[in-house]
Amino acid sequence: MSATRPYFGANWKMHKGPSAARAFVHAFRGLHPPSADRTVVFFPPALSIPAFLEERGDRTDLGVGVQDVHQAAEGAHTGAVSASMAADAGATWGLAGHSERRREFGDDDALVSAKVLRLLEAGLRPVLCVGETLEQREAGRLEDVLRRQLRAVLDRLADEDRSRLVIAYEPVWAIGTGRTASPQDAADAHALVRAELAERVGEARATEAVVIYGGSVKPENVQELLAMPGIDGALVGGASLEPEAFARICAAGSPA
Ligand code: PEP
Repeated sequence: MSATRPYFGANWKMHKGPSAARAFVHAFRGLHPPSADRTVVFFPPALSIPAFLEERGDRTDLGVGVQDVHQAAEGAHTGAVSASMAADAGATWGLAGHSERRREFGDDDALVSAKVLRLLEAGLRPVLCVGETLEQREAGRLEDVLRRQLRAVLDRLADEDRSRLVIAYEPVWAIGTGRTASPQDAADAHALVRAELAERVGEARATEAVVIYGGSVKPENVQELLAMPGIDGALVGGASLEPEAFARICAAGSPA
């Protein structure tokens, strides 16, 4: 972990409607005390954001983000959610480039960068997900893929906006598969992400950037991942659906 305070994101995907979101927050509040030394952000389905916020009450340390937004500001896009609507509903963060969006919905690099711009325009902080498939890793293309995905976004952003990004390195083969990157593989990929950032924002700001790991993170493996240099936290899918498991993950890196 770097000097940055750890960041833990819970990506609920298409789980937990408003009632289940309320029940989770109710339980989680009792398991995870407010702690100023870490950032905890939930990405519920957009429909559940208001219920999440109501149940959160005064626990404003529990941040909320939107899982996806449309690339347009508004318009005839049936079923879509805009970044400004998400902000109006109380979200302060937004995911972009998650591999499930890239694979199932065709979010390519151009679309991902357009979505990042919309998030920023609406005042939301983007968590940009990047990562390689197994095929790309085995073909020795890890660095190429990460650089391409990062450049597509960084090249379109002003300097101050580049510093507002959190980057989630999520190897596609480790998402929802139970297969985690080894701590060393994860740290090596994080070093590639930071090298690309350094070219765009300079060494000092690249060192300060928040770069987190995602892919089958659990209470049992989070500590060893966070112990690696340059891994500042975790984006968690499956294990964030259980209040106890996610509270244990969010306690990682605390002084004993
Ligand atoms: C994710 O969806 O971002 C993720 C990392 O999922 P999981 O923890 O289930 O692999």
